[in-house]
Amino acid sequence: MKVFIAVTLIFGLTKSFNNIIVNYNAILIVQIYTFLFLKKYIFVLYLFLKIKIMLQIQARSDIPTDYGVFTVYAFSDSEDDWNPHLVWVALGTDFAKPVNVRFHSECITGEVFHSKKCECGQQLSVAMEYVSKHGGIIIYLRQEGRNIGIINKLKAYALQEKGFDTVEANLMLGFPDDARTFDDAIEVLKVLDIKAINLITNNPDKINCLKNSGIQLNGRVPLEIKPNEVNKSYLDKKREYFGHLLKEF
Ligand SMILES: [Zn+2]
Repeated sequence: MKVFIAVTLIFGLTKSFNNIIVNYNAILIVQIYTFLFLKKYIFVLYLFLKIKIMLQIQARSDIPTDYGVFTVYAFSDSEDDWNPHLVWVALGTDFAKPVNVRFHSECITGEVFHSKKCECGQQLSVAMEYVSKHGGIIIYLRQEGRNIGIINKLKAYALQEKGFDTVEANLMLGFPDDARTFDDAIEVLKVLDIKAINLITNNPDKINCLKNSGIQLNGRVPLEIKPNEVNKSYLDKKREYFGHLLKEF
């Protein structure tokens, strides 16, 4: 590289300009080195800008449900995204007052197929009923299986069948105990111009993510589901390991 630079400089295209000798190759080399030096910063800036423009409302529609009518917004960075976050806004919700908000991460096994291994389906139903009655929104986040995806979630379940718990199984698969983030939920709140919320949750991570977010946490609404014969140890783990604010049944 050094030889290349030396040869380039010696034999480079030079031109006299107002009695100043300009070596254009030297300028080129400086430009290349400047780019290489700034490359990672440019990449970080690109990511930052991409994140900042990431979520937009791609579509909206009113949907009647068993719990009342909701206006549903699809949030994504692209109209072609087949798995956008879905924001369900209960009819009559006033965004100028503190809004009841549920950050709910996707769980197809619990919500669609009524799996007894978790309480996600029941939590979603109770949250929909609550916001329908009191006003509020559900931010349905596409981070299946604590954000490891449905395939890895089933792999983790297979490990649980061998006696490992939910945390051990995730770690054995090379994932964090909980890979979810709630940055997108905060972004959604900002896009909707919601400034103060009551968070419907038992999860301290969701409460902590609001710190320094610019969104005011007015209060917490607990969302406790009585365990069944299958998910009791899972809910115990949530309380004991993840620190979820749950009663001991
Ligand atoms: Zn679940």
